[in-house]
Amino acid sequence: MIYKRSSALFAEAKQLIPGGVNSPVRAFKAVGGDPIFVKEAKGAYLYDVDGNRLIDYIASWGPLILGHAHEPVLNAIIEKAKKGTSFGMPTEIETELAKLAVSMVPNIDKIRFVNSGTEACMSAVRLARGYTGKDKIIKFTGCYHGHSDSFLIQAGSGAVTFGSPNSPGVTQGTAKDTLLASYNDLESVTQLIEANKGEIAAVIIEPVAGNMGCIIPTDGFIRGLRELCTQNDILLIFDEVMTGFRLGRGGAQEALGIKADILCFGKVIGGGLPVGAFAASTKIMGYLAPEGPVYQAGTLSGNPLAMSAGLAMLTELNNNPAIFTSLQEKTAHLHIGLSKALDKKGIPYQINRFGSMISVHFTDRPVMDFASSATGNNETFKKYFHGMLDQGIYLPPSAFESYFLNDALSYEDLDETIEAVEKLQLD
Ligand code: PMP
Repeated sequence: MIYKRSSALFAEAKQLIPGGVNSPVRAFKAVGGDPIFVKEAKGAYLYDVDGNRLIDYIASWGPLILGHAHEPVLNAIIEKAKKGTSFGMPTEIETELAKLAVSMVPNIDKIRFVNSGTEACMSAVRLARGYTGKDKIIKFTGCYHGHSDSFLIQAGSGAVTFGSPNSPGVTQGTAKDTLLASYNDLESVTQLIEANKGEIAAVIIEPVAGNMGCIIPTDGFIRGLRELCTQNDILLIFDEVMTGFRLGRGGAQEALGIKADILCFGKVIGGGLPVGAFAASTKIMGYLAPEGPVYQAGTLSGNPLAMSAGLAMLTELNNNPAIFTSLQEKTAHLHIGLSKALDKKGIPYQINRFGSMISVHFTDRPVMDFASSATGNNETFKKYFHGMLDQGIYLPPSAFESYFLNDALSYEDLDETIEAVEKLQLD
């Protein structure tokens, strides 16, 4: 495929935007080469500025669960936009979306809308600290909770892809309050709790991780985490920015059968517009301004266009939960096909899948945590990524990311993807 115009646009962007991108993972640094500039997208396909059609497996990193430019979402945005784009005043649609979200997600009474997943996680931790009167938090190496200071400690996703899991600019003072445990290792959590008795406000986790590839929690680990938090008066925060409204109506809580104390959302809840949210019981949310003392705010929070996109998306998912089954079946079909194709290559690989999240790791070790994810061979990954791109398949441009399937993908698209893997030369 030819990517001349993308390369020219990238060169121009680099003169004006750091690294040519507004979010690092887009720059293709982990895989080399120039990023693709998108012109437009419809359903399961991206169309780039050079006229190539690409089958899309990132769906804007998750939100476009029903595919690009999905009509009901588009129409909702267009109709809303005609009536004004922002007021900084309350609107009825905020309550409508809140009502729907609260009815879909187990175990929450109230929800506050923000503008990104970063804001959701940052605010959730502040709320947990205000509620418990404690300062420290536990996070897991390789989990990503956005780019606010407390979380850029051994973070996953772009942070690790670019070799800066601990970012300069985060003060020692902030870093000391973030304690690190290993994913799927309950003992590492127990030790931190013992060593910091009475000081830990919250444990924050991606209940199914998507920022070191897709990583599935063992039942004992996630259940044990819940018990440890309850026993030690620690709030359990599920960062469902990727999993919320994707793994099912009730997200990871429902899929895993575990209740968290605070939930963070992003992605699907905004239907492709910038929305995040955090939610909890009435008691915990009562600590939030203006009701309570924990401050949190946003000029564009609850923005009418974003709320209308989110409402259209969640309404469709709520009315038609068969979408989740369909997505799961498509992802399972892809899994089986990828396995068959990769088996023939004679190289070690692992595939992790949960619901409509899936990732391929070129290692012989089961991928259960950041350490095992990092054993993946990046040279093979690069060949895999570029070999697929050359055949019109757009995968996440880093091994530390999950694919996000969208329901516009047809079985023909999936089979085309599997055939493309068959044609790859990976050794
Ligand atoms: N939490 C998780 C689990 C995420 O995957 C991300 C972003 N991919 C975030 C938080 C941050 O969201 P945003 O990029 O919208 O700030």
